[in-house]
Amino acid sequence: MPLTEFFVIYPLAFVLAALLLGLIVGSFLNVLVWRLPKMLTREWRLQAHDLLGLPAETPGPAYNLMLPHSQCTHCGHRIRAWENIPLFSYLLLRGRCSSCATPIGRRYPLTELACGVLSAFVAWQFGFGWQAALVMVLSWGLLGMSLIDAEHQLLPDTLVLPLLWLGLIVNSFGLFVSLNQAVWGAVAGYLALWSVFWIFKLMTGKEGMGYGDFKLLAMLGAWGGWQILPLTLLLSSLVGAVVGVIVLRMRNAPASTQIPFGPYLAIAGWIALLWGGQITDFYWHSVGF
Ligand SMILES: [Zn+2]
Repeated sequence: MPLTEFFVIYPLAFVLAALLLGLIVGSFLNVLVWRLPKMLTREWRLQAHDLLGLPAETPGPAYNLMLPHSQCTHCGHRIRAWENIPLFSYLLLRGRCSSCATPIGRRYPLTELACGVLSAFVAWQFGFGWQAALVMVLSWGLLGMSLIDAEHQLLPDTLVLPLLWLGLIVNSFGLFVSLNQAVWGAVAGYLALWSVFWIFKLMTGKEGMGYGDFKLLAMLGAWGGWQILPLTLLLSSLVGAVVGVIVLRMRNAPASTQIPFGPYLAIAGWIALLWGGQITDFYWHSVGF
């Protein structure tokens, strides 16, 4: 029996396969989240030097998603294959480097677990098929960019823009919404936050969010169509406000502290894409329409 047929007949096998795949992708996301901001900073430094006519810096050793090989950030111990199995290696090593026993950050196994659970959930929700595969790719992208934005307040174009195009391409086949709805979703998504940004800036003289946020909402609109935008904005502002207040209180930070908006947009957009129809139906139903 071909594997595709097997997954159709046994949905649970598909969910398990998605879980395993998600764990592996999560392990790659750890590398991406750690290295991509450093790679971009390196590139921008080179460009700035070039633009300002400063003497060229001697290029350091290769640094990309493949090289150098993963190593302990404390002692430089090279991570061997068996130490790089998602989740299991962390448990097996009891969360410590096998060479110098420095604790390994908990975020690494947590990212792997989150990616595995997300992928399994998408597989369960959609069942075997193109929709599941593509929503998985979108979920991985959203998870990666949320982690980067949370830490660096940066939504890399190298992640957001390809996913924007992918959303338009999949909807040219009408996979989630019509191409028309997807194109206007992307346009309206960008313009919605762009207008908020300028109104806020003209009124207060401050910049409340970054251009990356506009592009991220455009990308979500390209996947779910313009119809998911109101719910996405509503959910992200609600969650962002609640979490923001909690985080500021916990850290005792001043109210003007910048909080990245990207992760909230990503979570809200993901929810709106999966359950947007049901949530708005429920809402209208409960207010009596
Ligand atoms: Zn070490």
